[in-house]
Amino acid sequence: MELQGEREKVIIVRYCEIHLKGKNRGYFEKVFQENLERALKGIRHEIRRLSGRYIVEGFEPGREEEIVERLSKVFGTHTLSIAYKVFADLETIYQTVLSLAPHAGSFKVQANRADKSFPLNSMQLNAEIGARLLAARPQLNVDVHDPQHVLYVDIRENGTALVFANYVKGAGGMPVGTAGKGMLLLSGGIDSPVAGYMIAKRGMKVDAIHFHSYPYTNLQAREKVEELARLLAAYTGGITLHVVRVTHIQEAIHRSCPAEMMITLLRRFMMRIAERTARRCGGQCIITGESLGQVASQTIEGITSSESVLESLPVLRPLIGMDKTEIIEVSRRIGTYETSILPYEDCCTVFLPKHPLIRPDLAQVVREEAKLDVEGLIAEAFATEETLSFS
Ligand code: ATP
Ligand code: MG
Repeated sequence: MELQGEREKVIIVRYCEIHLKGKNRGYFEKVFQENLERALKGIRHEIRRLSGRYIVEGFEPGREEEIVERLSKVFGTHTLSIAYKVFADLETIYQTVLSLAPHAGSFKVQANRADKSFPLNSMQLNAEIGARLLAARPQLNVDVHDPQHVLYVDIRENGTALVFANYVKGAGGMPVGTAGKGMLLLSGGIDSPVAGYMIAKRGMKVDAIHFHSYPYTNLQAREKVEELARLLAAYTGGITLHVVRVTHIQEAIHRSCPAEMMITLLRRFMMRIAERTARRCGGQCIITGESLGQVASQTIEGITSSESVLESLPVLRPLIGMDKTEIIEVSRRIGTYETSILPYEDCCTVFLPKHPLIRPDLAQVVREEAKLDVEGLIAEAFATEETLSFS
């Protein structure tokens, strides 16, 4: 129909908390726009800023769903709408609204007029388009308080109008890159990907480190962690994953120390290696998926033991007060759950004692650790380090 030539599909991206940042607003907007651009790599497009939002346009017809899917994962995104951009004349606007309108049920028109020279104000526009819709679709009725459908018309300053009918919820949070950088201890479990997601949501750039004990853990376990990193990368704007083998460390602990201390001692090695890797890469903190009391190693005594080896970086534990069911809920929502539950062994289950220490005594832990060549084992582990990039 003749309308086709006059209207173009665009995407409206509205952002959240950024406006709270006062003087820093410009900086936040710049980082946010860069993150939007990065998320659309490989798709031809243009992004323009409009007061309080961005308009994505100039993409190939048919790619709008994919673009919304990608941009909804960019932190800072509050909501998105696929809209028609049309000439701002009443007939064109009405025809476009009609094309989006339902055939039955309650509705209202919600107009907004940025261009005050448009002949109708927003109330008049609501009434005029609403009346025409009622005449064209007798099974519709108006409900301004609790309508089933809302049809939005946004008259812009440049002689165009945006017409749309739905909102997609974005990931929320703050643009990644506005709150420093951290090193996530990424296992193959449910919790650590969620922890990385939550910290990135507050604007922190996240890199990750994974420990494996090949050949006790297999290649599939490794691929699973790589897949988790890839899934997280869609939210974090890319991830660098460090993979370090701790087999010799575990063997040494197994040889020299009480079996029930395996996890307690291994955790201390993981923390040291993570901290040094973080510092080498500009990381300002360690991030873990620990939740208080969830398993034997996550008691306050266990946490004290593993944290006490750190020299300068703080540990962020975004899940510390969450129940497993709450963590699983997030993991399903962000799409990591199905991968996390694949049944491959993690290094923590290798040499797993029947009765891990629940309340390790720090002095005893330090005594046992003294039997090991801590620095030698760390150097040996670092020699196995591989670095992978996910975008
Ligand atoms: P997750 O679901 O994240 O594996 P979990 O409930 O299995 O957690 P633990 O195995 O006690 O709990 O691990 C606690 C935290 O220690 C993890 O969330 C993760 O941050 C870190 N961690 C555990 N194993 C590894 C590993 N192999 N590589 C990197 N980090 C690990
Ligand atoms: Mg685990």
